[in-house]
Amino acid sequence: MSILFDRITLIGIGLIGSSIARDIRELGIAGELVISTRSEATLKRAEELGLGDRYVASAAEAVKGADLIIVSVPVGSSGAVAEQIAPNLKPGAILTDVGSTKASVIAQMAPHVPEGVHFIAGHPLAGTEKSGPDAGFAGLFRGRWCILTPLPETDPDALGRLRGFWVALGSRIDEMDPQHHDKVLAIVSHLPHIIAYNIVGTADDLETVTESEVIKYSASGFRDFTRLAASDPTMWRDVCLHNKDAILEMLARFSEDLASLQRAIRWGEGDKLFELFSRTRTIRRSIVEAGQDVDAPDFGRHALDVKS
Ligand code: NAP
Repeated sequence: MSILFDRITLIGIGLIGSSIARDIRELGIAGELVISTRSEATLKRAEELGLGDRYVASAAEAVKGADLIIVSVPVGSSGAVAEQIAPNLKPGAILTDVGSTKASVIAQMAPHVPEGVHFIAGHPLAGTEKSGPDAGFAGLFRGRWCILTPLPETDPDALGRLRGFWVALGSRIDEMDPQHHDKVLAIVSHLPHIIAYNIVGTADDLETVTESEVIKYSASGFRDFTRLAASDPTMWRDVCLHNKDAILEMLARFSEDLASLQRAIRWGEGDKLFELFSRTRTIRRSIVEAGQDVDAPDFGRHALDVKS
């Protein structure tokens, strides 16, 4: 593949940043790849893993002369990062992010972006419950959606170049209004994580069932929640704080529906339960048909070696 940007700087080199770095190197789409992260330890690890061409502790220094800057830090820190790097951004450069919430990130970053720099927020819908530079891998974004949230004043050429970047990584692109993104993600990602954190917390608090029983019999369903509930606490704290309104709206809907389900169980309304469970099964089928999961047992995971 040919070079898409002469110099790309990645600020933040955790799961997402390091996956982007691996793809950039593998595809050869940057003339130079510069990496910066908050801590000395993570920067050293990125260097040991050979993720970039240059490793720079100061984010402000790292963005000098960069044509594309990708910020991959917890959403609550994006404003502080923008403030740090803003004075050194090159006119004509494209600045983007990968944060899981969009309206808040734009509100935090946009005020710092100097005239002539193209700031286009984005969110690749790909990830795992792991964190840090060792957790990333090439191909994470292949076949997955990347949502870009340009504003009416966004320069179409810059948007086209950023789209081209994600397409090179194998992503499918959608464009959306930031507020709409936050609503959609509240239901497809944020609420499921909150429910998982809650159910795992409830199981942990139970006194009548021992911890060893919860773990021993976890394959009955509980296990599938624990993967989501093992996600990074900093990232998810920030998502909850920075998509508060949409999450609270979805939680209110969820609680109403849960109360109705509870009532159906209490009153033995089998038809109602059967109708709901049939409807939800169809959604699972649509997800498989849309290529967003595979129709294999255990939600697409390979069979585990179960210890007796
Ligand atoms: P991660 O693996 O925990 O890496 C976080 C990176 O951000 C590290 O380089 C870390 O630096 C840096 N960082 C942490 N706190 C910071 C702060 N206060 N100021 C500056 N830098 C800071 O996280 P990740 O999973 O890659 O997530 C990064 C972003 O991607 C988040 O906004 C998240 O919402 C979004 N995202 C995540 C997923 C997912 O599944 N994980 C999917 C899509 C989008 P040090 O290690 O040097 O401290």
